[in-house]
Amino acid sequence: MTNSPGAGRFAPSPSADLHIGNLRTAVLAWLFARSTGRRFLMRVEDLDDRTHTDIADRQLADLAALGVTWDGPAIWQSEHPERYDAVVDTLDERGLLFECYCTRRDIAQAPRAPHAPEGAYPGTCRNLDNADRERRRRETGRPPALRLRTDTTEYTVHDVLHGDYTGLVDDFVVRRGDGVPAYNLAVVVDDAATGVDQVVRGDDLLSSSPRQAYLARLLGHPEPVYAHVPLVLNGDGARLAKRDGAVTLAEIGVAQALRQIADSLGYEAHAVGGMLDEFDPRRLPRVPWVYRPG
Ligand code: GLU
Repeated sequence: MTNSPGAGRFAPSPSADLHIGNLRTAVLAWLFARSTGRRFLMRVEDLDDRTHTDIADRQLADLAALGVTWDGPAIWQSEHPERYDAVVDTLDERGLLFECYCTRRDIAQAPRAPHAPEGAYPGTCRNLDNADRERRRRETGRPPALRLRTDTTEYTVHDVLHGDYTGLVDDFVVRRGDGVPAYNLAVVVDDAATGVDQVVRGDDLLSSSPRQAYLARLLGHPEPVYAHVPLVLNGDGARLAKRDGAVTLAEIGVAQALRQIADSLGYEAHAVGGMLDEFDPRRLPRVPWVYRPG
């Protein structure tokens, strides 16, 4: 019996049209998956942005126009909320969650231990007793977020481009106060539920991967192969954004987008099929691509 092939994926949030940097990351995710015989899945991360189906539809159409093909229908996170609830319930039954009433400001202003890692949750609500919890609930008048009770402050993942990467794991949120599953939980739950074992995405998310891998391990899932690819910058060295102009497929057209993506990766071919023949992860640029329109 052969093992079923794993899967890679691209997981856009429908907050804005994809720009050339996002499109390049999608092409790379597709190349990584296809070159290793994996299926490729498309996941619309619309838990936060359920109303923007028009943007999501355009994102999917743009990806298809580039030749970034996916297996099966696109997966919309909002279609299966029970998947996240079930995992939150499991973690809760295992005693691994606690209610948190803190606002961002509470967290920023909380006293910290002298060597507490930068950006870590300070633990304010970790050990509340019932009376404290009641008081916090009355004071804030809002439903609590749920945080994971972690037993470490860091975790090491392996990344194809970055090697071993050790990053912060704090008591991170798994369900927000408004009831929406948190990004870190949703990614881990969806990747596992759909057989994703290869995660290729922008390197702005590298620092999230230790939390996600830690949670995956807690839930008994293997760590995926990670490849965090360099971002695309504008001429000023800032992260490329839609407002930079001439960055979306509607603005630049399919042929030019493919040519620019191929050039940035050093490929002769200007179609994704040809890029697949040339693809070698060891030869990928390790530095950001500075995008100049034209
Ligand atoms: N939806 C996230 C984004 O658009 C990506 C999530 C992921 O690839 O893990 O930034």
